[in-house]
Order: sequence, then C-alpha cells, then structure tokens
Amino acid sequence: MTHEEYESKSQMKRVEILKAEERMIHEELLAKLSPARYIIKEEVVAQLNAIRAVVELHKPHDKYKGVCSGCYEEESGFSDYPCPTIQTIQEQLK
Ligand SMILES: [Zn+2]
Repeated sequence: MTHEEYESKSQMKRVEILKAEERMIHEELLAKLSPARYIIKEEVVAQLNAIRAVVELHKPHDKYKGVCSGCYEEESGFSDYPCPTIQTIQEQLK
C-alpha cells in the first residue's frame, strides 16, 4: 500500500467514525423520546411523536458527513449536524 493509499484509507476511517457518532446522537434522541419508556396519556404520546418526527427529519445526511438532511436552504446549503433544531432538543433532554 502506498503512502497516499494509506492516507486515503485512514481519512475514510475517520469519516466513518464521525458518521457513526452522528448516527449515535440521532439514535439516542429517538430512544429518549420513545413512548414505550413511559406509562403516559395518549395526548402526551402524540406530543412525543411530534418531537420524534422532527428528530427523524433532522437526521445525519446519508451521504455527507457533518450535515443535517433536514436543513437545506437554497442560499446557504446544508446546516451542520447536529443542527440548531437538534441542539435545542438535546439541550432540553440533558
Ligand atoms: Zn436540521
């Protein structure tokens, strides 16, 4: 393996690790917001599901590392992941 091949492989590995961390944030939020964890009223389940739908929308992009697939704007492009929406939800669930 050449030095360039090694560097390229090493960079790909780092990207995979970062992407795995993004997926972990996403999965942890969904787990925290699972109605199955609680005995709660139907109305609260609906509210929880509403927030879960937002988390599902604002997930790490399948292709690109470090960007939110739910925050695309014509002018500015993609937002970073975790985006302000996800950061706000994370802050509330600390
Ligand atoms: Zn977002």
